Amino acid sequence: MLDLLLPKRCAFCRKVTPGGLCDACQKTLPWRSEPYDGTVAAPLSYRGPVRLALHRYKFRGASGCAGIFGKLMAQAVADARLNPGIVTWVPCSFARRWTRGYDQARKLAKRVCAELGLPLERMLRKTRHTRSQTKMPDEAARRVNVKGAFAVLAKKSSAAGKHILLVDDIRTTGATLDECKRLLLEAGAESVVCCVVAAKG
Ligand SMILES: [Zn+2]
Repeated sequence: MLDLLLPKRCAFCRKVTPGGLCDACQKTLPWRSEPYDGTVAAPLSYRGPVRLALHRYKFRGASGCAGIFGKLMAQAVADARLNPGIVTWVPCSFARRWTRGYDQARKLAKRVCAELGLPLERMLRKTRHTRSQTKMPDEAARRVNVKGAFAVLAKKSSAAGKHILLVDDIRTTGATLDECKRLLLEAGAESVVCCVVAAKG
């Protein structure tokens, strides 16, 4: 209902614009020259207005931005010809979902699925709360922070034999994505490729 009442705004500069991305941002955002770097498909670099937009999405309730973010991610996956068969996401902890009101990566994954016509399935769960990876001082701290923080859903070993697209919002060092990818491969996944809105570097 709120969606119908509020004017659609550009996710990056907040100017009223249909579709969630204005012409000026389309021209000036830090687009990555390659949609896929061998590990992750990401349309944007994590800096400047992209960093601010993702912060609004994660911490300030701008959940409507999932529409344009998911569209851009799906485009990157298609451009890179990754051809996954099923989509899953990096889950957030129950505590974080409770305070935020939504699981930000799941929301993105749903949009990516809608764009690419792929099924969505929960395959991972968070086993404990972790501090935000963006607040960790270095890569070693990030790896320690996520070690053992995720598990494959025990009852559904649906990862087996699948070509999986693993969705998250941001990649900083890749510690979280690496950990989740490892678990899915251990559970028998045929392949795992990752996709985020924005990657550092
Ligand atoms: Zn804009």
